[in-house]
Formats: sequence, C-alpha cells, structure tokens
Amino acid sequence: MRADANPPAPKYLENSPIIEAYRQKTPTSAKLAERARGIFPSGITHDVRYIEPHGIYVTRAEAMHKWDVDGHEYVDYPGGHGALLLGHNQPAVLEAVRQQLGKGTHYGACHELELRWGELIQQMVPSAERVRLANSGTEATLLALRLARAATGRKKILRFIGHFHGWHDHVSFGFNSHFDGTPTPGVLPEIAQNVLLAPPWDFAATQRIVEAHDDIAAAIIEPTGSTWGQVPVTRQFVESLRQLTARRGIVLIFDEVISGFRCAPGGLQQAWEVVPDLTVLGKIVGGGMHGAAVAGRRDLLDQLDFRAAAAAGREKVFHQGTYNAMPASCAAAIATLEIIRSTDACARAIQYGRGLQAALNRVFAEEGVNWISYGTFGGFHVFLNPNRLTTTPAEIESGKFDHATLRAPVKPSLSMKLRVGVLLHGVDIQPWPGAPISAAHTAEDCDRTADAFRRTIRMLKEEQEI
Ligand code: PMP
Repeated sequence: MRADANPPAPKYLENSPIIEAYRQKTPTSAKLAERARGIFPSGITHDVRYIEPHGIYVTRAEAMHKWDVDGHEYVDYPGGHGALLLGHNQPAVLEAVRQQLGKGTHYGACHELELRWGELIQQMVPSAERVRLANSGTEATLLALRLARAATGRKKILRFIGHFHGWHDHVSFGFNSHFDGTPTPGVLPEIAQNVLLAPPWDFAATQRIVEAHDDIAAAIIEPTGSTWGQVPVTRQFVESLRQLTARRGIVLIFDEVISGFRCAPGGLQQAWEVVPDLTVLGKIVGGGMHGAAVAGRRDLLDQLDFRAAAAAGREKVFHQGTYNAMPASCAAAIATLEIIRSTDACARAIQYGRGLQAALNRVFAEEGVNWISYGTFGGFHVFLNPNRLTTTPAEIESGKFDHATLRAPVKPSLSMKLRVGVLLHGVDIQPWPGAPISAAHTAEDCDRTADAFRRTIRMLKEEQEI
C-alpha cells in the first residue's frame, strides 16, 4: 500500500445484507465519516467508537435515547461511556449546568462548588478521607499509582490480566493484548518491567506473585472484574487481596471509575464492605461532564499537601491540571451525586440489568444460539461462546472462568456485524458486547433491545455468521 493511499476496508463488509441495510439507513453518517477519515485516524476520537463501515453521527439525546443525523432514534447503552447513570439531560443536572455556565467557565482559582463536590465524595465513598480532583480516569489512575510509589518508595505495580485503567504507559498492556507483560507500541520496556500481571481468578497464583516480590508499591484492580465485570472477580478474591496487600504494606487501589456510584451510592467498596487505601473515581463522579478523583487514606493524599510535606521534611508529590474542578463539571457532579445519594437510582439500574439479561437469554434460547447474557451490579454482557461451553449466567458470575475463556476470540466479522445489526434495529451497545445500564432505561427499552437482538441474530444466521 502506498503511504498516502487510503487503507482498504475489511473484506467482511462485502456482500453483507446487514452492512448494506445499515449503509442505506445511515447515508448522512456515511458522508460525515468520509470527511472524518480525512481528519482523524479511522475517522474517530476514541477507539471504542470504531465501527465498520462507519458509526452513527448523533445530533441529540434525551433520557436513554439518542437521534442520528438521518433522523433515527436509538436506545442508548454507551450512556456517555458509562458516565450517565441518570440518563441524558436529567432535569436537575441540566439546570445546574445551565445556571453555572452563565457565571463563567473557568476561574483559575478556588470556588465553593469544588468543596461541595469533594464533600459529597468524602461522605459517600467509604475510603475517602481526603480527595484530589482530576479530569479523567486515566489521569486519576496515574496519580494514584504515583502516590503509592512515593509513599512506599517501591517501584513495582501489581495489575490484573484484562483489567482496564485508562491509556497511560503503566496500564497500556495486558488489557486486551500483551498478556505476557511486554509493552505495547510506544511504551518503554522499563515501564513494563515494573508491572506485574496477576490472574484475578486465581488467588493462590496472585499470592505467589506477591510473595516473590518485595518491591510492590501498589495493587490496582477493577473490583467487579475486567471490563465492568465481563470477567467477574469474586468478593472472596477482593477480600483476600485486601488482607494480602495490608500484610505486605502494598497500597491497594480500587479503580471504581465504572463501579463508583453504581454498585451502590458508595461504590463496590460499600456494597462489599471492603475498604481500599486509594480509590479512583471517574465517569459518574463528573455527572456527565469531565471529572475524576483520587480519594483515600489521608496520609497518602497528604503527600500532595504543601504543609504536610514541609512538616514531614519530604518533597511534595507533583500534580496539576488546567481543567481540575471546572465549575460547570462541579455543578453537574453535585446535582448527580445528590440524586444518587437520595434515590434508588443504583438499584433501578441493577434491576433493569437483570430484566434485560433474562429477556436476552430468552431470545437466545428461542433463536437456538448458545450465547449467554450475564452481569452483576447493572452491567450486561453477551458471551458469544465461540467454543460452545455449556454453562449458565450464575456460573459465569461466580467467577469460575478465566479471561481466556470469557474473552475467547470471536470472528471480527461476527462481532462487528452484531454491533451494526443492533444499530440497524435501533439499539447502540458497547463493542465487547455489552454495556453499563442506566437508571433511565425503561421496560419499553428492554423490549426494543431484545427485539433488536432477535432480528440481528436472524440476519446473522442468513449470512452464515452463526
Ligand atoms: N478505569 C476504568 C475501569 C475505566 O472503565 C476507564 C474508562 N473506560 C478508565 C479507567 C479511564 O477513564 P477515562 O476514559 O476517563 O480516562
């Protein structure tokens, strides 16, 4: 291929009625995607938004629905990539942002809204003795790891196979590739050498890794399991990890970027009563605007404190960020957290998740496919079961299966046509396939989703993809 030539489209796009029908339905999105390819690599701004032949271009959203440039309505599951537990345009959140925008977008100074945001985090999240605000989950996991290294004077980080913590160098391998711990392109081998990858379905193996190293600063985990519980982690594993890390002086970091304010108002740590040393919060914590936080033990956060560092005679840990605690984000965050704290929003999303999984499993049984929908705490996943495993949602949720089993490779043509197929039938999901649920999803959304899967399965059968 010439360096300046357009890369070829995947072969599976040819002769596919699903793809053809989708192209017919979304001509304006197709045109915008063509323009986008001249600007952005793959025409996109986030890898998760990669869709062949093109994604939908959205013009507006309301509750858990959104509309594309061709005028079609979709049931929305990405939900701001998990940020919108309360749905789009929740009236109190919207009003709070509107009011705040008229008062200025950035003061370059302290303001009272940041106090209220921080106080809500402190009051809701059990581990949050102190809080530092940031902009994204990626920034916050980077800061949490830095705090742990600074506090312990140790180098290594213990991570878990498949667990996602953003895209910075310490966490960019071992998520969906490079499970041997080698770095992905652009990451220094020296960084990768200081990261240990453990299997979160095998505590004995994890313990062996921990006991073989004296220089582990931190263990960081998605406490419900990788990709929002797609490969579930058990409560027993998390409790045992808490004990092990405490014994070894390792800072335990819960990455609650998705599980925070979702498993319960105080996150997974409240639901399972396991308190980490540091907690990373993102997505919901910003109320649908950009926002993130590192919260946790006072002595660890006080490494950022000018007076505490001076009193202890040590150098302060460095952290800045132009957009930390933007007033409009604070307004959205406060309104959102107050609603989550005072209503049954978490419980409603969890209940919808169970109903959706049951509806999907009924469709799978009726259509004779061996797929399985499962997911705890208001997530739903669809296991496409390429190796024809005989199992149940409960068995998967028990944490019995490893990453290799639950993320067994599926033909790229099948996973892409499934995603495009449900879009064709008015439902947008995340690519793994699955999504976090919102408290604003309705019974009608559930029926529409099940119907979209049924129609897509029938088309996939006709194309002999399944
Ligand atoms: N941790 C987890 C568990 C996440 O799901 C994500 C985002 N999907 C991140 C960290 C990174 O957050 P952000 O995209 O805000 O950088």
